[in-house]
Amino acid sequence: MTSQVVLATHNPHKVAEFQAIVAQVRPDLEVVSYDGPEPVEDGTTFAENALIKARAAAAHTGLVALADDSGICVDVLGGSPGVFSAYWAGHRKDARANLALLLDQLSDLARDEDRSAQFRSTIAVVSPGGSEHVVEGVWPGRVAREPQGEHGFGYDPVFIPDGGDRSAAELSPEEKNAASHRARAFAALGDVLRDL
Ligand code: IMP
Repeated sequence: MTSQVVLATHNPHKVAEFQAIVAQVRPDLEVVSYDGPEPVEDGTTFAENALIKARAAAAHTGLVALADDSGICVDVLGGSPGVFSAYWAGHRKDARANLALLLDQLSDLARDEDRSAQFRSTIAVVSPGGSEHVVEGVWPGRVAREPQGEHGFGYDPVFIPDGGDRSAAELSPEEKNAASHRARAFAALGDVLRDL
């Protein structure tokens, strides 16, 4: 019987979020962190990258493994930055430079409807026996004209979720956690965890 799942992320913020969702749905499962070798994330989709990470962790630990990949997809850019969200402005993983570049790329687009975008979060669940599940959460919205708000991280100051005028960085953490792409992916993950 499955009693432990391994989480293939080193981001402490994500570890806490995953622990909370697993505790809600499957309090009998213990979430442990993965500290084995890191695979190269060279997938072209969030699902491929999440699967690469989860397969590596499942193979190395012999446990059911969870891994996620996420980012922002802008329609007029054909879905980019997508899997390159963290490094959009270069190799330094510089969040300010990333969102400045994105605003610059969209600077000619005045109409809100031309600036439509989504945050996407994909979570892969891989068992050592080979069964694989992928779930996704999508948070639709648009790219703002300039950064707004102080909360959150990454592209939050330039992402305005549908249904309001506030950016994700102007939402309280509670508001963001109730609506975000990750919240939506976690809801779908619950169904997979129940059946483990
Ligand atoms: P990863 O899933 O940790 O690899 O995140 C990829 C990148 O997507 C992050 O570095 C951010 O730039 C962006 N991203 C993912 N989720 C969010 C979010 O909730 N807010 C803002 N940016 C995000």
